[in-house]
Amino acid sequence: MNNRNVLKIGFIGAGKMAYALANGWLSTGLLKSRYLIASAHPSDEVSLKLFKSLGAEAVTENRSVVEKSQIIFISVKPAVVKHVLDDVKNISNGKLFVSIAMGVTLNEIEEILPSDSRVIRVMPNTPAIVQAACSCFVKGKTATHNDAELIRELFEKIGTCEEVSENMIDAITALSGSGPAYVFVMIEALADGGVKMGLPRDLAYKLATQTVLGSAKLVKDTNTHPAILKDNVTSPSGSTASGLHHLEKNNFRGALIGCVEAATLRCREIS
Ligand code: NAD
Repeated sequence: MNNRNVLKIGFIGAGKMAYALANGWLSTGLLKSRYLIASAHPSDEVSLKLFKSLGAEAVTENRSVVEKSQIIFISVKPAVVKHVLDDVKNISNGKLFVSIAMGVTLNEIEEILPSDSRVIRVMPNTPAIVQAACSCFVKGKTATHNDAELIRELFEKIGTCEEVSENMIDAITALSGSGPAYVFVMIEALADGGVKMGLPRDLAYKLATQTVLGSAKLVKDTNTHPAILKDNVTSPSGSTASGLHHLEKNNFRGALIGCVEAATLRCREIS
């Protein structure tokens, strides 16, 4: 498909992740809002209003999403996935379904949908909204090479995208799916440290945010091991060495490793 402007995309579940993806793609100009449709629970006026504000169609009927779309994103909470698939399975023939739900396996989805439905599982993250997402996908049994390339192309427009095997998805969910939350806490805490030591709040947030952004960009753009970059900014007997010693004494690395482990185990528990 060369002209993505006529690609019709639907979201069953119009929440935070769906909004981030839709907004990301609209901002790139890759998609047009008149070809976007999303459904939400009837009580969820906030999500419906947000999608309408994008110029998209917002409905409470999941079947309308399937009828009007070529690619249907399953973007409800994991516990609701089975229910919404049951609702639309008899009109889903030949369509491409993309599930972003954590902990719901391809097999579970493929067992509900008719055998000619193609399924892909993606784990994105919310920086999609600013075209800086980190997404991984797994192709289902009947999804084609073209389906996979289309998904890769869509997600690369709003960040990075890797094809992976399904046994990695829980750890990916824990690292990059949930990862923005860990980084937000780190930005907040760094800023709190600055405020504790006398900086104005606005300046502290600005400095903490740009420091995280700039450091990530330095690792990425120079493809240099983070330990080398850390050594480069740590002078003998300097203030950075004192700060790092404090982090080590307080198990900073162990806390982050344990955080990804705990989130992975929780994904496995839910699966
Ligand atoms: P959310 O609570 O913000 O959104 C859920 C949406 O589902 C709401 O719009 C709600 O109205 C709708 N909904 C509920 N019942 C419905 C029904 N029966 N039919 C149609 N819509 C219904 O949740 P979210 O954070 O956007 O997460 C959605 C999915 O995305 C989850 O499965 C989650 O695992 C996955 N995900 C989320 C993130 C994230 O950072 N939020 C990252 C990666 C993956």
